[in-house]
Amino acid sequence: MSEQLASSRRRVLVLGTGGTIAGRAAASGDNIGYVAGQVAVAELLAGLEAPAGVSLEAEQVAQVDSKDMEFSIWLALARRCAQALADPAVAGVVITHGTDTLEETAFFLHSVLASDKPVVLTCAMRPASALSPDGPQNVRDAVVVAASHGSRGVSVVCAGVVHTAADVQKVHTYRLDAFSSGDGGPIGFVEEGQVRVTGKWPEAGRGLDAAQQWPHDLDPPRVEILFSHAGARGALIDALLAERAQGASGAIRGLVLAATGNGTLHHEIEQAAARAQAAGVAVVRATRCSQGRILAKPGDAIPDAGALSPVKARVALMLELLGAPSL
Ligand code: ASP
Repeated sequence: MSEQLASSRRRVLVLGTGGTIAGRAAASGDNIGYVAGQVAVAELLAGLEAPAGVSLEAEQVAQVDSKDMEFSIWLALARRCAQALADPAVAGVVITHGTDTLEETAFFLHSVLASDKPVVLTCAMRPASALSPDGPQNVRDAVVVAASHGSRGVSVVCAGVVHTAADVQKVHTYRLDAFSSGDGGPIGFVEEGQVRVTGKWPEAGRGLDAAQQWPHDLDPPRVEILFSHAGARGALIDALLAERAQGASGAIRGLVLAATGNGTLHHEIEQAAARAQAAGVAVVRATRCSQGRILAKPGDAIPDAGALSPVKARVALMLELLGAPSL
């Protein structure tokens, strides 16, 4: 390859973190009894045809089942993305990830990355060992999005649909098209190597670049999520407050209440939440509903997280407690 051709190539960095996409089962007909995070990301790219003029590089950042995702991996991903995106030769980054916490990682990266180059998370619902795995097409589609002129910000690609990090949610336990953007609708679709945009690319993150300043072993503030439900009681909140009162290290600093409907809480939870606020815990309400947003009312005693799901509200609250300005 001539030097000129090589330098005109657009590079896409593919970061592996594990998940079902890198999972293996003992039998090819088994789509659920597999072990996630077995296949190296370089192996996932073997045989994948990159779009014309695009070169791929693989790097393993983690190898986990994403149900076990940790803040330390988010930090490592954010740092690596920021570093790679600052390189003018890099068009974008793809991250292979498990489906279970994919929306949390995507929202974290959306919240902390400054670059508006694309970062595209992708996944699979069937393991790499399946008779008909969905991972290879998803990775190909994600690479297309990452390399495509005009795409920007953090997005998620699964089953040919492109979602924003802010709206995406896993909504199905088994179907290949397991994600939805709810009311917001998707950004678009990937069809035969082309991106068809029907919505809007997200605005670039808040440009924190805070992830660069935080120590590698930063212990994030503890933020718990508790559900309000029929027959709910405040005992769990009080137990957390008792631990905090004893000065235990790693005690709770934030609490997300997964509220019913338009942010309503069982009165027992509401009273316990008031005790938590009085004790200095940051409390936020996020709706349990998978669609819609909390519409604030005058006199609301507990702030709401708008359209954020409880898991994303937790990420936002952690970042706020780390001193990051809100999105
Ligand atoms: N438990 C797997 C994971 O999140 C599920 C998946 O990837 O579909 O890593």
